[in-house]
Amino acid sequence: MTAQPPALDWGQLGFGYLRTPWRYRSHWREGAWDSGVLTEDNQVHISEASAALHYGQQCFEGLKAYRTADGRVNLFRPDQNALRMQRSCARLLMPPVPTETFVGACKRVVRANLDFVPPYGTGGALYLRPFLIGVGDSIAVTSAPEFLFSVFAVPVGAYFKGGLSPMNFVTSGYDRAAPQGTGAAKVGGNYAASLLPGAEAKGHRFADCIYLDPATHTKIEEVGAANFFAITRDGRFVTPRSPSILPSITKYSLLHLAAERLGLEVEEGDVFIDRLDEYAEAGACGTAAVITPIGGIQHGEHFHVFHSETEVGPVTRRLYEELVGIQYGDRPAPEGWIVNVEGKEV
Ligand SMILES: *Cc1c(COP(=O)(O)O)cnc(C)c1O
Repeated sequence: MTAQPPALDWGQLGFGYLRTPWRYRSHWREGAWDSGVLTEDNQVHISEASAALHYGQQCFEGLKAYRTADGRVNLFRPDQNALRMQRSCARLLMPPVPTETFVGACKRVVRANLDFVPPYGTGGALYLRPFLIGVGDSIAVTSAPEFLFSVFAVPVGAYFKGGLSPMNFVTSGYDRAAPQGTGAAKVGGNYAASLLPGAEAKGHRFADCIYLDPATHTKIEEVGAANFFAITRDGRFVTPRSPSILPSITKYSLLHLAAERLGLEVEEGDVFIDRLDEYAEAGACGTAAVITPIGGIQHGEHFHVFHSETEVGPVTRRLYEELVGIQYGDRPAPEGWIVNVEGKEV
């Protein structure tokens, strides 16, 4: 079931949907997940009354498979995505997918679409999109009678074509999540709420908007759909802590590397929007770009520049190189971070 080698221009790939041959599907009915299959059908046929369509009962994940210099293909911390999806499911009253099933499905999809994993050195990767949706015939506002779990794959290109470069952001007056709402769950509803603020920021030529804490609007929470971190002038790695932030796997990986490999003090705490002078560097982090260095932040009338609007700060660059080096297999990984897709299915 290997695909025809695709005629893709790896250097030109962006972040768009491109149909790959195989995807994983599993249904939950009458209290259990079925054994799951790979299918070539990229359309989902579901009831018009599906809870995912009306009440937003759904969640998703995003992770990448990387081609190494010696031709192997690795997933980066897929168990963490499995655990996070289980937490999203708990919040939205959906049946969790066991970690082994989740990781096994990701491996199967990568192996079935192996020719679509971009070559080493192109900066690309095979992006995996697991999702879980409430389906079946029910229009009542209750948990769906049935669920679908699927994983599909899309080859994506390097996020920064000309190398890492800073971007500017603007704070938003809107909230993406409520203080005790669903901000910490990776659910579509948060994204629906972010479309208008994101479009407004982009309309003013910012890369995206920054969300402040929904209770007081004084502290930084998220940068678009990425987490925020900053390096203080005395060299500490600081990232906000809040129940409405989506816990980024990239962020916690950077926090670990900052402490263990760069020897920095690390701290989860408050980042006040009117005290940005304390920080020498700042960045947004997530699977898509790993790190987007933050040049400046517009807040009301004030525009604050961190390290530079055009140059990447030294700590940001070291963190980026360390993490990307681990993902592509060039640098030693902390135990359990790299999962090879070959070998026995789990
Ligand atoms: C997925 C996501 C992130 C980034 O998480 P990673 O695990 O690092 O990819 C950050 N913020 C939001 C709102 C997200 O949905």
